[in-house]
Amino acid sequence: MRPRRLLWQLYPSYLLITLISLLAVMWYVSWSIREFYRANTAVDLEARAGFVREQLALPLGEQSPESIGRLCKRLGQAFSTRVTIVLPDGRVLGDSDHDPLAMKNHIDRPEIQEALAGRVGASTRYSYTLKKYMMYVAVPVTIQNKIVGATRVSIPMTAFEQSLRAIYVQIAVAALIVALVAAAVSLVVSRRISRPLEEMKRGVERFAKGDFSIKLPVLDSQEIGALAEEMNTMAEHLRRLETIRRDFVANVSHELRTPVTAIKGFVETLREGALKDPEAASRFLDIIARQVDRLNAIIGDLLTLSRLEEGADAAVVRFEENRIRDVLEAAVQVCDMKASAKGIAVKLDCEPDLLCKSNAPLLEQAVVNLIDNAIKHSEEGSSVRVVVASAEKEIRITVEDHGCGIEQEHLPRLFERFYRVDKARSRKLGGTGLGLSIVKHIAQVHGGSVSVASTPGKGSTFAISIPKG
Ligand code: ADP
Repeated sequence: MRPRRLLWQLYPSYLLITLISLLAVMWYVSWSIREFYRANTAVDLEARAGFVREQLALPLGEQSPESIGRLCKRLGQAFSTRVTIVLPDGRVLGDSDHDPLAMKNHIDRPEIQEALAGRVGASTRYSYTLKKYMMYVAVPVTIQNKIVGATRVSIPMTAFEQSLRAIYVQIAVAALIVALVAAAVSLVVSRRISRPLEEMKRGVERFAKGDFSIKLPVLDSQEIGALAEEMNTMAEHLRRLETIRRDFVANVSHELRTPVTAIKGFVETLREGALKDPEAASRFLDIIARQVDRLNAIIGDLLTLSRLEEGADAAVVRFEENRIRDVLEAAVQVCDMKASAKGIAVKLDCEPDLLCKSNAPLLEQAVVNLIDNAIKHSEEGSSVRVVVASAEKEIRITVEDHGCGIEQEHLPRLFERFYRVDKARSRKLGGTGLGLSIVKHIAQVHGGSVSVASTPGKGSTFAISIPKG
């Protein structure tokens, strides 16, 4: 089934709920009014019956049937009700609408039975005499506490129903108006809920097309507002990733182009005759070889980075409990030649039995990169210290030099790919601009982080923190 629009899900539900409530209220109000009206009518009839009783000259038995009949007719007309007078044995003594002699014994009528028992009797039922539904109320007639008969008044239900019908029509009209207003309000409310979501949908569609220039409106509803904020954050994140990716491609192309252009230039010079000058030719070939090494270094670093990223994603890097001292000793060993060439002493300060879950080759490469940088940026005869501090949950490897140091402004971007403080100097020292980026990735693959502190002219301290377990 094709999903429906949110508006068409909300609106009918709202409408249904309002209509059901409205019908329920309508039904209840009609019922209450009917009951109220019926009770009122009964009280009214009772008062009329009481009045009829007052008009009777007592004792009943001694009056002529004609005079009783006349009284009934007169009172019946005056009250627009039917008036009946019944003796204790059930015989009808007089009736405003009928000949009492033609009427059956009324002893079985419930309201008469009640009245003859000394109470007010009421009943609503079909009258076979008048052939319609009637409402009856009867009261006892007493002389000196003795019941001598009953007076009964009655009205046809049609009159009662007619007055009610007018009220029902009014209720129905009011309900219709309320229903229309409710329908309009429901539509507005449904729109208010669905519109921000539709706007967000449109915004996210633009995000999906790579257009991050807009921001989703953050609306007053808490959940939808939070959703919009989250999506804006996500878009911001995507935009950043997109910029990083673009910069990276531009940087890589630029980095590769420099050596390639140099190689091309020297090859052309050789072709154009420099080959004939063996001394120049050999110098040019040396330069070409250096540029090829450089290309090789960049490509190697890029591959390492891409493998690290893949490894972090797929969690394919294997970790083992390693003795940290062994890993660091190997790293110092690798840098030994470069260090001795500059007369720099690399000192290692690490507990021998310290263990840490890590990938030894990767960790070694990270530390090699740091020591290599430290040596590159230190004066001859200086010193570099590698220190390991162990805390409860993590270990911290610091590489400390007394070299040129780094200006504060560069520190936040230092671990970015291809970021260099001094481009020319870095190239001259054979750097690719990727070394620290690799260090950072290796720390991250281990679930750790990197940091740097530096004072220009005094030296720098780079640190890798990784969790122990
Ligand atoms: P590179 O291949 O250029 O060394 P890195 O990513 O290893 O690239 O380092 C980035 C930049 O950080 C370097 O170009 C250098 O300017 C600066 N840098 C790194 N380590 C040090 C250090 N120990 N002392 C001073 N500057 C450093």
